Amino acid sequence: MDIEDILQRGQQQVAKAEDLRQLDDVRVGFLGKKGELTALLKQLGTLDAAERPKAGALINQAKVTLQQDIEGRKDQLQQQELAQTLAADTVDVTLPGRQPVLGGLHPVTQAMYRIQDIFTGAGYQVVAGREIENDYYNFAALNIPSHHPARAMHDTFYFSDGTLLRTHTSPSQVHTMERQAPPIRVICPGRVYRRDSDLTHSPMFHQVEGLVVDEDISFADLKGTVTDFLQRFFEKELQVRFRPSYFPFTEPSAEVDVQCVHCLGKGCRVCSHTGWLEVMGCGLVHPNVLNMSGIDTEAYSGFAFGFGVDRLAMLLFEVDDLRLFFDNDLRFLRQFA
Ligand SMILES: [Zn+2]
Repeated sequence: MDIEDILQRGQQQVAKAEDLRQLDDVRVGFLGKKGELTALLKQLGTLDAAERPKAGALINQAKVTLQQDIEGRKDQLQQQELAQTLAADTVDVTLPGRQPVLGGLHPVTQAMYRIQDIFTGAGYQVVAGREIENDYYNFAALNIPSHHPARAMHDTFYFSDGTLLRTHTSPSQVHTMERQAPPIRVICPGRVYRRDSDLTHSPMFHQVEGLVVDEDISFADLKGTVTDFLQRFFEKELQVRFRPSYFPFTEPSAEVDVQCVHCLGKGCRVCSHTGWLEVMGCGLVHPNVLNMSGIDTEAYSGFAFGFGVDRLAMLLFEVDDLRLFFDNDLRFLRQFA
C-alpha cells in the first residue's frame, strides 16, 4: 500500500493550487467518489481480514490529514482573493465627485411663474380652469353668439359631442364670475388651442388672462395694472401705449404695445423697425358678459386683459422662432437651466 505516497502527492498539489477551482480539482482527485484515497478504501476487501482494520485506519487518517490541508489552503486562497479585491477597488477620495444631472424649468414655464409671481404679489388669485369647454363658456357667455363674425377669428378644434378645446383662457373668467361674488381679482393661465401653425403660431400655446371686477373699476385701473405688469416682467421702465381695438367681450377695448425691449424704441428687426411690440389685448368687461354671469352691472364694473405667454417668453429670452419652445431640443433648453 502506498498511502504515504498518495498523501504526499495530495499535499503537494494542495500547496500548489493557485485558486479555489484548482484546489477543488485536487479534492475531487483524492477524496471524491473516484478519488485515489477513496479507491484505496474500496480495495480493503482484497486484504487479509487481520490487516483490514489497521489499513482502514491509516487510509482514514490520510483522508483527514488531506482534508485539513485543503481547508487550510482554502482559507489562504480566500484571504488572497479578498486582499486583491480590496486593492483593486480602492477608492481615491481625492477624485472629483460625479455631478448629478440637473434639470431646469422650460423657458415658457419660467415666464409663466414670473407672471404668476407678479400678479399674486398684487393680490390676484390663480385659477387653472379646464381645457375642454363647451360652446357656451368659450363663446356665448363671452358675448360671441353663434352668428357673430368674431368666431371666424378662432379656428376651433371641435369634438364630435359638441365640446371643444378652449381657444382662449377666457372661459375660466366666466366660471369664476359664476362661482364667486365681487370683488374678483384673478389670473387664468393655461394652454389654449387653435388650428394655426407657422413661424409665430403653434396649434397649442399658452395664455394668461386677467380679470378684475369690483366697484368703481375704470380704464385708468386697467392702464396702471398693465403698465406696471409689463415693466416688472421685463424689468425695464418701458413705455406702454394703448390703441383702440375691438373684442366682443370688452367695451371699450384696446391693444397694448410696449416699447421694444430689444432696441428701446430706436427700431430693430425684432420690432420691424417700429420701436413698438404688440403684446396684449384688454378692455373694460362688456356689460353683457357681466350680466350673463349674474353680476349686477349697476354696482360693479371690471377690466380684463389677455396675452400669449410664449410671445412674452420669446421677447424676454430673445428667442426668434416660437417652434424652438416645442422642439424639446436639449441644446436649446439647457441654455435656460
Ligand atoms: Zn426694436
